[in-house]
Amino acid sequence: MQRWERAQALAKESEIDALLVTPGADLRYLTGYAAKPLERLTCLVVPADGAPFLVAPNLEVSAAESAGVDVEIVGWNETDDPFALLASRLGSPRRIAVDDQMWASRVLALRDALPATEQTLAGPVLSHLRARKDAAEIEALREASAAIDRVHARMAEWLRPGRTEREVGADIARAILDEGHEHVDFVIVGSGPNGASPHHEISDRVIEVGDPVVVDIGGTTPVGYCSDSTRNYLAGGQAPDGYLDAYAVLLVAQAVQRAHARPGVTAESVDRVGRTILAEAGLGDLFIHRTGHGIGVETHEEPYIVEGNDLVLEPGMAFSIEPGFYLPGRYGARIEDIAICTADGLEVLNSTERQLVVLD
Ligand code: ZN
Ligand code: ZN
Ligand code: ZN
Repeated sequence: MQRWERAQALAKESEIDALLVTPGADLRYLTGYAAKPLERLTCLVVPADGAPFLVAPNLEVSAAESAGVDVEIVGWNETDDPFALLASRLGSPRRIAVDDQMWASRVLALRDALPATEQTLAGPVLSHLRARKDAAEIEALREASAAIDRVHARMAEWLRPGRTEREVGADIARAILDEGHEHVDFVIVGSGPNGASPHHEISDRVIEVGDPVVVDIGGTTPVGYCSDSTRNYLAGGQAPDGYLDAYAVLLVAQAVQRAHARPGVTAESVDRVGRTILAEAGLGDLFIHRTGHGIGVETHEEPYIVEGNDLVLEPGMAFSIEPGFYLPGRYGARIEDIAICTADGLEVLNSTERQLVVLD
């Protein structure tokens, strides 16, 4: 079954007359078309009944075709009103669902073109599909993870005292491309106190002997799937007081979470089993984020591994397991693997050293 057919079936169940999807991850997921988000309207329409079609500017039609779009393409000329065209093709739907990232200007233009039509979000339908990976997607995620593992395995080439985070980050970014990604999505090199900010990227700070360094990196492969892995390095010397003890607890917490995650358990329970271990060691207040996020055609998608999410894990769900601790002004650490729920357990896609790696 095509992805759009599954989307169609879910739309019908949700009493949505049509799904409208503009350029972005959802469009790429449904059609393979990585359309640029340009000012001219491109929009996939998946009606609850009947065949889907793609409304696209005539000058983009050949790009859509060569990307493998295999639904009818309805082209529009420069002076046409694409919203009127859409509305005439749609008739008078009672309820349409727009993709979560659709520009507000388009949502409002659709409201004007279809004044009697209720609007809702397509997110619930599309994220339900995207969270459950098929065999080809799982293979694509394996390849992405192997590519980022090759970058982590080369860290000794770049990370050493006396270099700035920015210099190290530039080398890592080049390696992310060299090892098989099409885009660099993010490079976090958090040395010493900068490691205490989970989303610190890079700075001009010079890495010092004895600094723990959090390296969290990811990219997108040519087939459109993302990698994301965090490892921790020590730039020679002695780690700061308390760091190694906390790191030992973090290793246990992350291992327990990996052992726990499997089909039939809830997303929040994966968070809880790790958080409990950190809390018992007095590190609970330092674990300031959720345990993880789903991953696929975007780095962050459903399912979110967080307290309050009672979603039951199913085979094919892919997500990160990335507990951490962050001591402001001093240091931080995070251990992050991407894993996939299998029929009876968990396949962990990253395989580089999770122990603190000492480089000097
Ligand atoms: Zn993050
Ligand atoms: Zn992550
Ligand atoms: Zn990460």
